[in-house]
Amino acid sequence: MSSSDSSRARFEASKETMRERARAGVQLQLDGEEKSLKRERGFKELFKAFWALLGQERRPIVGVLALMTVSTVLGLAPLYAPKLVLDNVVDGRPLPGVLEPSLGALTARGQLFWILGVSLSLTVLALLVGLVGRWIATRAAKRVAIDVRGEAFEHASRLPLHRLTSMSSGGTSSLLRDDAGAPAALIGEMLLNPWGALVQLTGSVIMLLIVDARLVLAAVALVPIIWITHRTWIRRIRPMWRETRKIRREVDGHTTQVFGGIRIVRAFGRRRSEATRYVRGQAHQTRFELLAWWWMRGVDTAWAIAIPASTAALLCYGALRIIGDAALLESGQMQPGQELTIGSLVLFLTYLTAMLGPLATLAATATGLQNSLAGLDRVLDLFAEEEDMPTPADAVELDLESVVGAIKLEGVSFTYPGTETPALADLELDVAAGTTVALVGPSGAGKTTLCNLIARFFDPTAGTVTLDGTDLKRIPVDDYRRALALVEQDVFLFDASIGENVAYSRRDASKAEIRRALERANALEFVDKLPEGLDARIGERGVKLSGGQRQRLAIARALLAEPRLLILDEATSSLDTENELLIQASLSELMRGRTSFVIAHRLSTIRQADLILVIDAGRIVERGTHEELIEAGGVYQGMVAMQTQRGPEP
Ligand code: ADP
Repeated sequence: MSSSDSSRARFEASKETMRERARAGVQLQLDGEEKSLKRERGFKELFKAFWALLGQERRPIVGVLALMTVSTVLGLAPLYAPKLVLDNVVDGRPLPGVLEPSLGALTARGQLFWILGVSLSLTVLALLVGLVGRWIATRAAKRVAIDVRGEAFEHASRLPLHRLTSMSSGGTSSLLRDDAGAPAALIGEMLLNPWGALVQLTGSVIMLLIVDARLVLAAVALVPIIWITHRTWIRRIRPMWRETRKIRREVDGHTTQVFGGIRIVRAFGRRRSEATRYVRGQAHQTRFELLAWWWMRGVDTAWAIAIPASTAALLCYGALRIIGDAALLESGQMQPGQELTIGSLVLFLTYLTAMLGPLATLAATATGLQNSLAGLDRVLDLFAEEEDMPTPADAVELDLESVVGAIKLEGVSFTYPGTETPALADLELDVAAGTTVALVGPSGAGKTTLCNLIARFFDPTAGTVTLDGTDLKRIPVDDYRRALALVEQDVFLFDASIGENVAYSRRDASKAEIRRALERANALEFVDKLPEGLDARIGERGVKLSGGQRQRLAIARALLAEPRLLILDEATSSLDTENELLIQASLSELMRGRTSFVIAHRLSTIRQADLILVIDAGRIVERGTHEELIEAGGVYQGMVAMQTQRGPEP
C-alpha cells in the first residue's frame, strides 16, 4: 500500500468511527460521563483548598483586588462625559451641582476641553492602575503555578510504586502540566474576573439608576434571560470538554507507550495499526470538539444578536420617550429637568454596554473555570493520596558512616497489593555484613520481590527486615537509600551525558571521582575513546552503547555511591567473552566488602557467593555454599547439572 493509500484508509477509518459514535448516541455517553466525573468536593471546599494553595501570594492578590476596584471605578467615571458634553455644553442646560464651582465660570469651549481633558486623564489613570494590578496578579499566578507544580511533583514522586505504575506516564505528565496549573488559572477565573465584573456591574447599575430608574427596569429584565441561556449552555458544554480531556489523556498515554516501545511495535508489524488507533482517537476527540464548537459559537452568536437587539429596543423606547417628553414639556404637563435628555439616553446605552461587558466575559470564561475546578479537584486528590513509607514518629536517623550492613529477615511474608497469593512466605534470613548472597531459582519464584523488600520498594506484609538490628520501617527511607545501590538487569540511563549518568548516584562527585569509578568498572577505556569523553551524550541524540557498555556504566554509577548494601540483578543476555570477563571483574570489584544480594544467572557468580539461596514459590528451599549444596544433592545440584549439560560457562 502506498503512503497516500494508507492515509486514505486512515481517513476512512476515522470517518467510520465518527459515524459509529454518532450512531451510538453521543448524548447517552455524555450523561454517563457527567455522572462518573462529578466533582466530589463542593465549591466551598474547593475554594478553601484553593485559598490555602495560594500561600504567600494571598496578600498581593488581595492588593490586586483593591487595585482592580480603583481601576474599574476610575474607568467608569469618564463614561459620564458624553452626557455632560451633549446636555450641558451643547444644549446649554445647567451643570450638575458638583461641577458648577469649577466649570460655571468657563465658556462652552472651555467646559468642553475641561471635561474631555479630565475624562481622558481618568481613563489613562484607570488603565495604568489596571496594568499594575494585572502585572502583580500575573506574577503571583506564575509563582503559585511553580509552587503547586513543585509540590505535585514532589508528592507524585513519593507515591507508592504500584500507584505510579497504574497511572500511565501520559497521566503523570498531564497531571503536572494541566491539573497542577489549575490553581494559578483560578486566581483569574475565581477571584479577579468575578470581582472585576461585580464592581463594574454594581458601578454601572448605580450610574444607570442615577440617570433614569425606569430605563434600569427595562435593562434588568435582560439579566434572567442571560442567566438562563448561560446555565443551559454550561450544562451542555461541560460534559463535552470532559470527554475531550479524557480521550486526550488516553491517547497521550498510549502514544507515549507506543514510542517508548517502538521496537516492539515495529517488530510485530503493528506500526500501521497503531497509527490508525491514534487517528481514531484524534477523530473521536475531534467529534466532541466540533460539537462543543457549535455550542460555543452558538452562544457567541446569540450574544452578538442579543446586544444590538436590546440596544435597539432600548434606543427605540428612549427615543419615543424623548419625543413624548418634549410634547409634555410644551403642553406644560412636565417640569423642565424631569424629561429624558439625549445625553441621558446616550449615557444609558454606554453604561449598559459597560454592564453587559463583564457578564459576557464571565460567561466566556465559565468553561475555563469549570476546567480549572476539575483540575484543582484532581490535584487535591493527588495531595490526599498517602505517600509511600512515611517517616514514623519513632524514626532513627541513619549515620551513613557507621552502617555496617548486616541484614536480617524475621518471619517475612509479602503479598503484592491487589493479589491473593503471597509472593514470599515466612522468610528467615540472617546475612552478616559484607556477605555476597546469590539468589537462584525459577522465574516467578520471588527473587525480585525479595530484592524489592531489601531495597524497601515495598514493606513486608508480615515480619520485619532489619539493618544492623534496626527495623527498616524506622529508618527514614531517603536515608536508607543512600546506604544502598542498585544495578538492574535493564540498565536505565537518562538521555544525558555519560558523566551525568554516572554521577546520578552522587551529585557532588568530582570529575576525578567519576573517572575513578569508571576505571574500577572497566568502563574508562571505552569512554575515553569517545570524542567527547565524559561529556558524550547517551540515547536518542547521542552515542549508542552496547549492552555490556551500559552495564559497566551502571556498575560505575553504583561504585561511585560507595554503598554499604548492593542489589544486583545480573543480566541474562549473553555477552561476548571479552565483555563478560570485563563485567565479571567489575562486579567483583563492586561487591567486595559490601553486603550484596545478587539475582544470579551465571554459575561463575553463584560459585563465588558466600551464601546461595535457592528460592521456589516464595520460600527458601535450600541454603549454603556451592560445595555444600552440591554435596547435599538437592534442587541446586540438579540445576547446576542441567546448566553444565547445556554448555560451559564463558
Ligand atoms: P522472580 O524475580 O523470581 O522471577 P518475582 O519476585 O518477580 O519472581 O515474582 C514473584 C511472584 O510475584 C510472581 O508470582 C509474580 O507474578 C508476582 N509479582 C511480581 N511482581 C508483581 C506485582 N507488581 N504485582 C503483583 N504480583 C507481582
